[in-house]
Amino acid sequence: MTFATLGLIEPLLRALETLGYQTPTPVQAQAIPAVLAGRDLMAAAQTGTGKTAGFALPLLQLLTMEGPKVAANSARALILCPTRELAEQVHASVAEYAQHLPLTTYAVYGGVSINPQMMKLRKGVDILVATPGRLIDLFRQNALKLNQLQTLVLDEADRMLDLGFSEELANIYRMLPKKRQTLLFSATFSDDIRLLAGQMLNDPLSIEVSPRNVAANTVKQWVVPVDKKRKPELFVHLMRKGRRKQVLVFAKTRNGVDALVDKLQGLGINADGIHGDKPQATRQRALDRFKASEVQILVATDVAARGLDIEDLPLVVNFDLPIVAEDYIHRIGRTGRAGNTGEAISLVCADEVNMLSAIEMLTRQTLTRKMEPDFEPEHRVPDTDASGQVVKKPKKPKKPKASGGGGKRNLGKWVDSGEVAPAEPSIKPVRKVPVFNTGPRKKK
Ligand code: AMP
Repeated sequence: MTFATLGLIEPLLRALETLGYQTPTPVQAQAIPAVLAGRDLMAAAQTGTGKTAGFALPLLQLLTMEGPKVAANSARALILCPTRELAEQVHASVAEYAQHLPLTTYAVYGGVSINPQMMKLRKGVDILVATPGRLIDLFRQNALKLNQLQTLVLDEADRMLDLGFSEELANIYRMLPKKRQTLLFSATFSDDIRLLAGQMLNDPLSIEVSPRNVAANTVKQWVVPVDKKRKPELFVHLMRKGRRKQVLVFAKTRNGVDALVDKLQGLGINADGIHGDKPQATRQRALDRFKASEVQILVATDVAARGLDIEDLPLVVNFDLPIVAEDYIHRIGRTGRAGNTGEAISLVCADEVNMLSAIEMLTRQTLTRKMEPDFEPEHRVPDTDASGQVVKKPKKPKKPKASGGGGKRNLGKWVDSGEVAPAEPSIKPVRKVPVFNTGPRKKK
């Protein structure tokens, strides 16, 4: 099956070709024809299944082929997401898919000034990606009207309810035109989600796909706490100790990729790197050599690794944690596929604690920490768990200063010495305001 046989138009096929998507994923194969036919959808699909393209591609096609031009302060399609990170990520994907279409896209979320968002909405946007709270603010301030809305997408609906957005969703529901297409995506289908679906959807088609790369049981995941400056040394140590053959390594930045590759090559280790600054042909060559086992270690940024068609790998290393928690699932989904077991090791330093916390909250698990002898960090990584809490240990009382100072070295041991970003989780804490649910809230 190809994207062309699913009935997608040429400008979308061209965008997919650039992105290197060759075959539709199962959720795409089911969702695309159904959405093009105007059906409502209730899809059990997690991050990593390709669900974003599953709703975005047919949505873009419908908006291109049908309907009036967008009016001022209006949106023709609305994609609701639980977090700012997901909203940004979904918007980035939608914008990539829409690159050859005459459509406008925009993302709005809280935590930033509302004024530029109001300005941007003046001309109207075809596709608006939004978090629920900010959407309501914009609506109440008359910056956004929803009477032109054709399609509503609820992305990660279960997480929206988990994060306490049920009241906001009920409000938004009242703001929507009755005649519309609604697509609901959720990893889980609790009673609350079914209730929401019952109210929002009209004769929906149900789709269920087995997740391609859930933070799966088949992937053994753990974290090695380490000081930032010692990460390269620790990485080399772990590779040598484990006699690792093929490893995909993720670094946060392009410079990070280059620095690690230089270091590894300097040590005679067979490594190569891919990132957005490198021409496509160079990236492809590095990837081909990695696949052919001519390169042992491939270091990549998230963007460069997107859509990489790599067979199952035994080990993925997060040299840096991803800024967007969902990327963690994409990253580790490169291992433990098709029933194989895999490993995912994350090297985590103290100032990545909020990212660690966001990942644990997203994957609903506390990652095991394993100290590597001789690499115990001087800057402690504060405790975290799946609730999104970062536990700071109380500061040890300072010893009276010996004459001559020299206190700086001691201070460095403590997380509140200024080495760590403040513990503001990147995902909103849980608020429980059941509104759709008429009965008592069920324990998940
Ligand atoms: P999602 O589940 O939508 O977050 O997508 C997971 C990842 O798979 C993203 O990095 C997408 O760019 C990538 N992706 C989605 N569909 C395809 C496809 N048909 N072929 C290759 N990569 C894809």
